Amino acid sequence: MLEREILDQVTGVFQNLCSSFLFQAKVDSSHAKSGELKEFLSDFCSCSPLINLTIEESKGNLQFSILRNGSDTGIIFRGIPGGHEFTSLLLAVLNADGIGKNLPDDNIKKRIQAITEKVTITTYMSLSCTNCPDVVQALNIITLFNPNISHIVSDGELWQDEVEQLGIQGVPTIYANGELFHVGRGDLGTLLNKLSNRFPPTEVGKVTLHDTTPKEYDVLVLGGGPAGTSAAIYSARKGLKVAVIGERIGGQVKDTVGIENVISVPYTTGEELSIALKEHMGKYPVDIFENRTIEKVALQGDQKEIVVKGGETFLAPAVIIATGASWRRLNVEGEADYIGRGVAFCPHCDGPFYKGKHVAVIGGGNSGIEAAIDLAGICSQVTILEFADTLRADIVLQEKANSLPNVEIFTSRQTMRVVGDGKKVTALEVKNRTNEEVSTIPLDGIFVQIGLSANSKPFEGQLELTSRKEIIHDVFGRTSLPGVYAAGDVTDVPYKQIIIAMGEGAKAALSAFDDKVRGVIA
Ligand code: FAD
Repeated sequence: MLEREILDQVTGVFQNLCSSFLFQAKVDSSHAKSGELKEFLSDFCSCSPLINLTIEESKGNLQFSILRNGSDTGIIFRGIPGGHEFTSLLLAVLNADGIGKNLPDDNIKKRIQAITEKVTITTYMSLSCTNCPDVVQALNIITLFNPNISHIVSDGELWQDEVEQLGIQGVPTIYANGELFHVGRGDLGTLLNKLSNRFPPTEVGKVTLHDTTPKEYDVLVLGGGPAGTSAAIYSARKGLKVAVIGERIGGQVKDTVGIENVISVPYTTGEELSIALKEHMGKYPVDIFENRTIEKVALQGDQKEIVVKGGETFLAPAVIIATGASWRRLNVEGEADYIGRGVAFCPHCDGPFYKGKHVAVIGGGNSGIEAAIDLAGICSQVTILEFADTLRADIVLQEKANSLPNVEIFTSRQTMRVVGDGKKVTALEVKNRTNEEVSTIPLDGIFVQIGLSANSKPFEGQLELTSRKEIIHDVFGRTSLPGVYAAGDVTDVPYKQIIIAMGEGAKAALSAFDDKVRGVIA
């Protein structure tokens, strides 16, 4: 069933395996997919003499567990992990063997191990879902490092009755000990934070937590998006001891499908650019602390202190804040599931992907109307939906939008639900607030333009912020406190774009170096 070429590749990858594995399958032979699962597993297991397979007849089942050196890894696949989940299966084996990519560092492992409660996680995914593998792989990693946690990866299409009973309308949908836990995209850091909030470490668990002795650096870069990466590289090139602390390397770039405006790179994807950012940082002695959420900061004084969730602490005389921004979301059903697949936030960036198509712009402020005017030149039809009973945009923009034949404007409209076919957006459900009537508009894309919010919460009260909570910085990237610099989308810089964030990161790093040389900071 698996193609020869794929089997050869897997055989090559498995050549370095050190552990022995047992795939323990439980299969109901009367299930329509039982033959397919058996064939899939025997093909897969044939790729290494270190992987054995047992198949047990079991009523109502179609699943397999993975055991390493005789011990249960806690990972169970309920279904046939082909499609986008094939990589998840491959990584489950490689990570269990300790030779996979993106394994967490020791402190993250300890945070995983600090969860002492028994937790059974069930992820409902679909083989065609592009958001599912990240979530499945992150939860598999968490499972591998904590024997109290097990992870059942269920193919929703094969377990329709359960899916209907649970009322699942999108994937990935995750349950922990039978309670809804998470829906949509997610990375290791986010899922671990949620898990440790839901199942806080007990006193026993806390003992396993890492050493909280502060780690000292010359420069701490907060955030690993384009601004943070650039700041880290520039700092390292000046010979400074630098660490990047952030949730995920790539930042918003990771949420982007295609990128066409990073000058000198005519086209790249968000995934590719994120990998390139990490690789470029890897060329320099930059310590990367990924999957960390900054919770507390003390920015006054000569030594700045940064504390992340879990208690790990960092000290430095210079801090470059590059925590970016998050597009304000509608927070309606379907939105998170279709980000990058019909739900878009950046008209400059994603507009060209909707050439000749019908899109909606949610939001009638300046950014919404400007987006609609831009999109009208590319798309066949643009429908503006504003919640209030009037538009908030400048009159000149409203007049321009009104003059365009392919733009229609509706006020008093509340977005209720993003509708899709599992792969992409197909419609938008909207309520007319004047008569409460709900209608469905068939369309191809939705641009949410209800504002960006700067990720500046941890710095509130310590730094000067604008009314929009953006960090105020000068042309050198300096903030209101000496030794504290800011760059990119978290600041009041106009135009939030990758290339601008990169430039701003470089500038902040050079200013920090300059201040050090001139003795302004230690
Ligand atoms: P970010 O990319 O936001 O990175 C900040 C990082 O800090 C993130 O990893 C975040 O998780 C982390 N962080 C935040 N708070 C904390 C905390 N408390 N603890 C730890 N870490 C934290 N721009 C373009 O030029 N071209 C495009 O095609 C394009 N397309 C886009 C498409 C989409 C869908 C989106 C959302 C944005 C797009 N943009 C595009 C805008 C561009 O991505 C941003 O301008 C750019 O990423 C900003 O970089 P940054 O480093 O300032 O912030």
